[in-house]
Amino acid sequence: MAVEQTISIIKPDAVGKNVIGDIYTRFEQAGLRIVAAKMKHLSQAEAEGFYAVHAERPFFNDLVDFMTSGPVMIQVLEGENAIAKNRELMGATNPKDADAGTIRADHAESIDENAVHGSDSPETAAVEIAYFFSTTELCPRTR
Ligand code: UDP
Repeated sequence: MAVEQTISIIKPDAVGKNVIGDIYTRFEQAGLRIVAAKMKHLSQAEAEGFYAVHAERPFFNDLVDFMTSGPVMIQVLEGENAIAKNRELMGATNPKDADAGTIRADHAESIDENAVHGSDSPETAAVEIAYFFSTTELCPRTR
């Protein structure tokens, strides 16, 4: 297994529920290290740019509205198999389908407001990390 980096975003619903610490604990207990983090209230342009791959989807405008409805907590996670590990901790996109004990099963209300985002491939992770962080903002423990 390779050491990977991935983007995690704690979405406005979960920030509003004050569960950032609970989610960080799950990352740490799974062996993932937080190597960069920032809280940010996304502008419409930032949210649209981040979710550009979904621009043609029917839920796009609602997704942008939701992602700009309050602050988000954005972090880079690093560790063995970090991309898949984070996706496993998150649970399925629709919290109704998410395994018990996952972040979405415990904290998400619906498929639209589903608590967290996580990169889904190494290529996406590289693009998403660069979208929010400059290389000087990353503090990899492997450096
Ligand atoms: N989404 C939505 N309605 C849908 C499907 C997706 O609002 O019917 C949103 C949801 O916030 C989801 C995001 O679009 O997390 C990206 O969708 P994707 O299928 O990539 O799921 P994810 O990778 O977040 O599990």
